[in-house]
Amino acid sequence: MRIKAAFFVAGALSLCAFSSAWSQALIPQRTSPPPPPAAAPAPAPAATTATAPAPTPAAAKTNCANPNAIGVSRVVQIDTTGGPGFGFEHFKQLDFLRDKEVVLTFDDGPWPVNTPSVLKTLAEECTKAIFFPIGKHATYYPEILKHVAAEGHTIGAHTWSHANLNNKKLTEAQQKEEIEKGFSAVKWALGAAPSPLFRFPALQHPPAMVTYLGERNISIWSCDLDSFDFKASTAQKVVDTVMTKLDKNGKGIVLMHDFQKHTAEALPELMKRLKAGGYKIVQVKAKAPVQTIAQYDEDVVKSLKLPTVSSRPLNSVVQTISE
Ligand SMILES: [Zn+2]
Repeated sequence: MRIKAAFFVAGALSLCAFSSAWSQALIPQRTSPPPPPAAAPAPAPAATTATAPAPTPAAAKTNCANPNAIGVSRVVQIDTTGGPGFGFEHFKQLDFLRDKEVVLTFDDGPWPVNTPSVLKTLAEECTKAIFFPIGKHATYYPEILKHVAAEGHTIGAHTWSHANLNNKKLTEAQQKEEIEKGFSAVKWALGAAPSPLFRFPALQHPPAMVTYLGERNISIWSCDLDSFDFKASTAQKVVDTVMTKLDKNGKGIVLMHDFQKHTAEALPELMKRLKAGGYKIVQVKAKAPVQTIAQYDEDVVKSLKLPTVSSRPLNSVVQTISE
């Protein structure tokens, strides 16, 4: 039930195409309702990890055993100084993709079953993507996020709790906290700072935060086309939507969700269709990791409600001295 609620909320917030009504990055979206704040992201599972995980293994897989894999056709490195924006839905200045080139992006994880399934398909195809995890989800499932990193994918951030940052009830300090705690949570989960790549929930870009990310040297990732996978009733619809839009655009940064079951199920077929259509996958890397802010790193640890002195075994704390 909790998972279903989380699916609904994340899906409802992950809109992209509606934003075509406003083409400038600095114009706030005015019509989208704020999300139910209590429901996103999903509640913490009972097995929330109580201690910081070990650092991520550094090595990424480089050998490909699949001769028919789509692979990676080109690797681009992004200098995020000044917070450049990417994705034609909002940012039209920096168009780095050539014809037939695709960047795969996945939001809202890490999540059991679906994220590992996405990773499996990407590994079989020897290809790479960008992941934009939700901070809270990263604290629930740090091992899954570490798996994403170990596979050599690029990891950015997608806020702490998937709040719509255009919600007028949020102060500027709260908006910044959502951004910063998101990065700090991902860093906590990985044991290393992620890339300075950020995607706004529901692609809602408050101008003050666009400016702030520029000052923080964090790049902003909108999309060229939205899979609308959160709305799709079947995996096939995810495939059809992406391919129809790609065939029209000729290339693009594709927004999907590793959080969504249909997306995970659709990915093998989508890879086949991409190959058949002559598309190539571009891997995006950042020039340097994000510099998180110590205060927010500490806030993440506090949010985890970690035991501070209770790591000792019971029998060293409580002993029967008389019966
Ligand atoms: Zn999202």
